[in-house]
Amino acid sequence: MSEGKKYNQRYRTIWEKDNRFKGWLQPVEGDKTQARCRVCGTTLKAHLRSIIGHNDGKKHKKNMTSSRYPPVMASGLSCRVFCRGITLTVTGPWNYVAGKRCDPIDSLGFMKVTEPATGQVMCEVPISGPTEVDRAVASAKNVFSTWSKLSGRERGQKLLEAGRIIRENLENISSLEVRDTGKPIWEARVDIASCADALEYYGGLAPAIVGQYVPLNGGSFAMVQREPLGVIGGIGAWNFPMQTCVWKAAPALACGNTFVYKPSQFTPITAVTLSEVLTQAGVPPGVFNVIQGEGEAGAKLCEHPDVAKLSFTGSVSTGTKVMAAGAKGIKSVTLELGGKSPIIIFEDADMKNAVKATLMANFLSQGQVCSNGTRVFVHRSIASEFIKQLVGATEKLKIGDPFAEDTTVGATIHEDHAKKVLSYIASARKEGATILCGGERVMQQGKLAGGWYLSPSVIGNCQDHMKVVKEEVFGSVASVLEFDSEEEVVKRANDTDFGLAGAVFTKDIQRGHRVANAIEAGMVWINTFNLYPTEIPFGGYKHSGIGRENGLTVVDYFTQTRTVYVEMGDVDCGPLYQD
Ligand code: NAD
Repeated sequence: MSEGKKYNQRYRTIWEKDNRFKGWLQPVEGDKTQARCRVCGTTLKAHLRSIIGHNDGKKHKKNMTSSRYPPVMASGLSCRVFCRGITLTVTGPWNYVAGKRCDPIDSLGFMKVTEPATGQVMCEVPISGPTEVDRAVASAKNVFSTWSKLSGRERGQKLLEAGRIIRENLENISSLEVRDTGKPIWEARVDIASCADALEYYGGLAPAIVGQYVPLNGGSFAMVQREPLGVIGGIGAWNFPMQTCVWKAAPALACGNTFVYKPSQFTPITAVTLSEVLTQAGVPPGVFNVIQGEGEAGAKLCEHPDVAKLSFTGSVSTGTKVMAAGAKGIKSVTLELGGKSPIIIFEDADMKNAVKATLMANFLSQGQVCSNGTRVFVHRSIASEFIKQLVGATEKLKIGDPFAEDTTVGATIHEDHAKKVLSYIASARKEGATILCGGERVMQQGKLAGGWYLSPSVIGNCQDHMKVVKEEVFGSVASVLEFDSEEEVVKRANDTDFGLAGAVFTKDIQRGHRVANAIEAGMVWINTFNLYPTEIPFGGYKHSGIGRENGLTVVDYFTQTRTVYVEMGDVDCGPLYQD
C-alpha cells in the first residue's frame, strides 16, 4: 500500500473508532476518509499533517514510539485534543484571562522555566506586569455577579464536568505534570486524579451550600444567608502544581466566587491546563484566570483592592508577607505553609507498615511534600531493626527518568534546590549525625544528564537540636531520632514552631488516640501517613498555617454570612418609647 493510502486509512480509523472523538467529528461530504471538527470546522487531516508531516514515515514512527509523548500524540493525533481546547504540549501563551490563553498586556520580562528531568529550559514564560494583574482581576470581578447568581446546582454541574474531563485526559495531564515537576509518572497520576476528586466533591456539594433559618421569639425569625466573598487571589507552590490550584479553586468556585491564580514560577503549565478544562466544562470566561510571574506578580495580586480573599500555599516567609498584604485590605487569608512533622513509632508497631509509612512520609515527590514526617521518632528498643529495614527499603528505590513506569524517585525541582538539600546533608554530617544511605547526586545519562537526581537519605544518630532536624529541608532526607517514653516523645515531637502534620504507629488503641490528641498539628494519622482525601480538612497549627483546605469546613473560608432578622410583631424598645 502506498504511503498516502496508509495515511488515509490511519486517520479514518482514528476518527471512526477512537472514543475520544465521538460526537466531535463529522464526516466530510464526498470524502469518506476525512472528518471535520463540529465546533471549528478544521479537518482532522490538517491536524495530522501539522504534527507528523504527510508521508514522513520516519518522523511519524518516532512520535508513535516515544514514551515522552502523551498517548494522544503517540497515536499520531494533534497535540491538542482535537478541538476540545486542552493544550497538551508545553506551549504558550501562558496567561489565561477572560476565557482565553493570552500574553500579558504588560510584561516584566521572561522566566526561563527548566524541565527538572533534563535540567534544560523547557519554555520561556512572560512575567505579568501590574496592568495584566489588573486586567485579570477585572475579568474575575466583571463576571462575579453572573457566576454568583447561578444556582449551586448549575455551578456544581460544571465542576462535575471538569472532573470528568480531567479523568478523560488523565494520562496526558499527568505527563504535563511530570514535565513541570520531575516527579514519577505514577505519582503524577495520583495527583491529577485527586484534582478530579476535588472537582467532583465540590461540584456535588455546591447545591448544598445554603444558609439557615433560625426561629426566634414571638414568631420572628432570622435567615442566615451564605454569600460568596468576591474575587479570590490564589498563589501556589511548585510541588503539587495542579492539585494546589484545584484545592483552592474548586471550593471557591462552588461557593460562587471567581478566581485569579498565580502558579509558582517553576511550574507554570497545569494551572493553564485547568483553565482550559474549566472553560470546556462550561465555566464562563473570566470566572477562573491565571497570571504567570514571580513574587512581584503575587504581591500585586495580594495588594489588589478588588481581591476579597487570599489563599496561599508556600513557605512560612512568603506566607508572612501575604498575610501582611492581606492585613492592609482587611482581607481574609488562608495560609498553607511548611512543616517539620513527626512520625512516632512505638515498640509494638507493625514494623513493615511503619517502614512503608516512613517511605511515604519522606520520599514521595523527591521529599518535596509539606506534610512530610521528616522527624522519625523510633522507640529505642526497636530502633536498630527499624533502621535496618528502612535503609534496606530506601536503597531499593529506583532513581531515574520520571516517565519510566518503574521509577520511584524522579528529579529535584531545580539545581539550587538540590544544592540546598545537599547542604542539609553536609550540615548533619558536620553536627555528628551518620548518613546511613543516600544524600548524593546521582548522575543520569543522555538527555537526563542535566537533571538533579538525589538519592533518598536516611540519617541516624540525630539529635533534636541539629539543623537538619529543626528546619524544613523539603527534600528526601529522613532524620531518625530514638526515644524511651511516650511522655518524652510527645514533648519532643511538639518542640517545633511548625504544626502541619504528624503520625503515631502503635497497636495499642488507647495510646494511639492519646498520642494523636497530644500532637500539635492540623492533620494526624494513626498507623498511616500522607493520605489526604478531599473529604477531610487539611491545614496547619502554629507557623504551618491558618485556615483549612478540603472537607466541608472550607466552605466557611470561601463564604461570609449575612443575617437577616425578620420581626413579625411590633418593635419592642422597652421604656424608650411611651404612647
Ligand atoms: P515560596 O513561598 O517560595 O513561593 C510560593 C509562591 O509565592 C510562589 O508562587 C511565589 O512566586 C509566590 N511569592 C513569592 N513572593 C511573594 C510575595 N511577596 N507575595 C505573594 N506571592 C509571592 O514557596 P515554594 O518554594 O514555592 O514552596 C515550598 C514551600 O511551600 C514549602 O515550605 C512547603 O512546605 C510549602 N507547601 C505547603 C503546602 C501546604 O499545604 N501546607 C503545600 C505545598 C507546599
